[in-house]
Amino acid sequence: MRTTIDTHMSIAHRTTHTYRRRLLAVVALAGTAAGCASVSPQQEAEMGVNYAQQINAQLPIVRDPEANAYMNRLGDSLAVLVDDQGRNWRFTIVDDPDINAFAVPGGYIYVNKGLILRAQTLSQLAGVVGHEIAHVTQRHSVKQMEKGQKIGIGATVACILQPSFCQNGGGDLLNLGATAIMAKFSRGDENEADQYGVKYVLRAGLDPRGLPEMFEIMLAERDSKGGSSAGFLASHPVEEDRIAATRREIAALPAGSLRNVTRDTPGFQAFKARLRSLPQTPKPAGAR
Ligand SMILES: [Zn+2]
Repeated sequence: MRTTIDTHMSIAHRTTHTYRRRLLAVVALAGTAAGCASVSPQQEAEMGVNYAQQINAQLPIVRDPEANAYMNRLGDSLAVLVDDQGRNWRFTIVDDPDINAFAVPGGYIYVNKGLILRAQTLSQLAGVVGHEIAHVTQRHSVKQMEKGQKIGIGATVACILQPSFCQNGGGDLLNLGATAIMAKFSRGDENEADQYGVKYVLRAGLDPRGLPEMFEIMLAERDSKGGSSAGFLASHPVEEDRIAATRREIAALPAGSLRNVTRDTPGFQAFKARLRSLPQTPKPAGAR
């Protein structure tokens, strides 16, 4: 699955793969959707609400109030400092064991339980969350929509322009589109999200070294699993590049930047313990 390996922070995409095959099957519906000149903040917010509804209806979402409160406190502590558009940020935990996280326009960030449990420290999780927030604040998906570049995004544009499209089978397409968005950021977008992620985490007083550390954890896990990704990784050392680039970014910070940063807290460890103790979330009844 090279597209997910070289464009996003994910190592296991069975679900995405299934979605993508379905996406190909319905591309004919959306393939001609044109880009639109600009997406207003209002449109971005509405799109986010739409996507979030679709995603929440399809994925097993952790509903535990305590865990959600922690996740949202952490996310808000990063996002509110850097968002100049007053987005309605929402941080959601998906009960999925894979290491993955994704962002939806409008400020909806999804983090898999598998990623949270693999993070050894608060700063490692914060690094990933900062990266995802940056995809939203830097409007990576929205810019793609404005250019009409991607098929998944074409579907989104179709939904904005023709609400009836969303009601007639577009719901499925919307969902597929969200998956496409999270899987198809360019290398440039990923690098930018890494750079901003470092800044955001630091601004919140957390240790930005958590981001490259989390990359290392992903890489180690992927290597230990072997399989098809190992071959790709051997010839495309993208993740190593990202780790090195992110470390260079951190090394270039003004002297003393890392002096008082927080690496971990008892609260984060309690959050992980809480998540571990929760029963498996059933798949939503309407999930396909
Ligand atoms: Zn990303």
